[in-house]
Amino acid sequence: MKAIRDRLAARALPAHGQTLHAFVLRLVEANAHPGSAWIRRLAGLPHTFATRPCDLAGLEAALGGAVPAPELAALASWPGPDGRIGVEGTRMSPSLLDLVRARVCPSCLAEGHRLRPAWDCRLLTACTRHGLRLVDRCPDCVGPLSWDRRSASRCRCRADLAVAPAATAAAGALPLLVTLEGLLRGDRQGSRPQGFAPVPTFDAAARLAWFTGTASDAGQDWRSRFISRPETAETEAVMGKAAAALLNWPAGVGPWLDGIQAHHGDEGLRRTMLRMRAALDDAVFRGFVDEVRQQLSKFPGRPAKGWAAVRGEELEPTWLDATATATRLGTTAAKVATMLEAGQLVGRFRRVGGRREFRICAASVARTGERLTASLTPEAAAARLGISRHALEDLRHAGLLAFVRPSCGNGIGSAYSPEDTDGLVARIAAFATPGGPLGVTSLCRVNRSKHRKLSEVIQGILQGVYPVHRLPGFDGPFSLAGFGVALDAVWGTRLHEDGSRSLDVRRAAKALGLATRMVPILVRAGCLRAAGGGHHGRLARNGVDERSVRNFRRDYVMASALARRHATSTQAVVRMLDDAGVAPVVRSDAARGVSAVWRAIDVAGGLLPDAAQRGTGAAAPGRRRRPRDVYPTSKPASARMPRRRTG
Ligand SMILES: [Zn+2]
Ligand SMILES: [Zn+2]
Repeated sequence: MKAIRDRLAARALPAHGQTLHAFVLRLVEANAHPGSAWIRRLAGLPHTFATRPCDLAGLEAALGGAVPAPELAALASWPGPDGRIGVEGTRMSPSLLDLVRARVCPSCLAEGHRLRPAWDCRLLTACTRHGLRLVDRCPDCVGPLSWDRRSASRCRCRADLAVAPAATAAAGALPLLVTLEGLLRGDRQGSRPQGFAPVPTFDAAARLAWFTGTASDAGQDWRSRFISRPETAETEAVMGKAAAALLNWPAGVGPWLDGIQAHHGDEGLRRTMLRMRAALDDAVFRGFVDEVRQQLSKFPGRPAKGWAAVRGEELEPTWLDATATATRLGTTAAKVATMLEAGQLVGRFRRVGGRREFRICAASVARTGERLTASLTPEAAAARLGISRHALEDLRHAGLLAFVRPSCGNGIGSAYSPEDTDGLVARIAAFATPGGPLGVTSLCRVNRSKHRKLSEVIQGILQGVYPVHRLPGFDGPFSLAGFGVALDAVWGTRLHEDGSRSLDVRRAAKALGLATRMVPILVRAGCLRAAGGGHHGRLARNGVDERSVRNFRRDYVMASALARRHATSTQAVVRMLDDAGVAPVVRSDAARGVSAVWRAIDVAGGLLPDAAQRGTGAAAPGRRRRPRDVYPTSKPASARMPRRRTG
């Protein structure tokens, strides 16, 4: 029997159409927790409860039995027997969803609308109600938004997301997003939007959009773009390119192909055909594929060979079961499901009794087989890139590389594609300038310092924030050894996806002219902001937001500075402000070497000589120099303070 303390103090019932993770967030809010950890512990939920099937009996018990576990499971975003996930009444591939990074429309929050489950689809980058790009980072702590927060509209850091600044959605992308939402409804109502490529479902339209958007100007690096899951702003740019190709159907197809040819020539067109074969290997894309074929027949140097291959197989797929697939790919049947989910294979499965029955498209197995024969072991992939295994894992975790085949735990190791590793190098090469300043460090050595993740540096390069230089004497096309960054630009700072930076404690202290020990104290007091996601209260390496360091001198004042300015001692300053009822945000503690800190706005009225006369109960002008008398004592500090800064 569950004890009372194993139940939630405040309970809620799931709202209509609410997802399981949104419902848990609602429970977090109702119980005034800072995140979901406590509820997960109470209900025995793994941290992957949103995406992987798990036992919800503990959550049912925590809710006092109000909602049976099967009903809770029906809300969950778990892959069903068809390998797809239900979102707002339609079914979509797991590859279209991002349940790690959460996104909100501030205007919807401000108007009291609920979070839309459709925003879990990473391609739907805007709120079509307000025409705003969805916000995927907290404006205050600049960490990526996660579902593990205080409430729908509160970050873990307490920032109010309803007032977060939001950009207008890109005009090029928005019509496509509206069309996709139409398809989302159409999947339920059986209606199709006009003027859009003929695809039967939202899932097919979204996959087609991602393909056309990433293929539109990608050279060798298409695959690494296709498999990456970029943040909202970059995704929006891809959707803008897809919109040009897919809206006003079929007028956009010709210009789309023209664009590829202009960038990459006939070879680019041929490559696009082969990619289409890999990515759009399903009868649902037939209308699009036929139109491309039609258009291509008008090109003088049309890539007939690549084309014939596309034609041959996608219309009449033959299917393999999991065992046959596993045998051909040298893997286990269990891993076939993983590869299907990751989009490396095309097909579906359904549950029959306790087991899953797979139907895998034979052509996709053959293609993955081809890629596997040329695949690299992790050791070989790391060696090709000139980095350590550890650094390779870092790149994979960051979404910059993906397995062709995951490890099976029975002697069959994981495999990477040289296409993917070379594609990543090509993306970096596109940003590289020859030569560079002194002190440029090869990308191969970045990870050895342990201070910096290679993935962060590469993300900074791909966002155009860190200049990257081609190192003389390295002409190997496949290795990161030929590229370097000036660590001065990177060292001690950490780059976030929105371009903001954070500093390590030592750098922050140096920038502030303070002892290092003061920095964590200032962060705890809220004078400086901890950067990055996750562990609040614990300062990560490179964990201080650079903007808050810049603003510190403007917003706060320290005892030593006041003492200097008024030619007195710090003890006198502390005493005076204390007498005046001005509370410090950090109390002085001589034993621990901690200096007192006040809000600049709190002391401004009392301390500056000219301001003193404006203040209530100001001292007589003649006695102004005696600091003890300068401070108004008639009112508490709070009465004079305009407004406390929040957040
Ligand atoms: Zn909205
Ligand atoms: Zn925050």
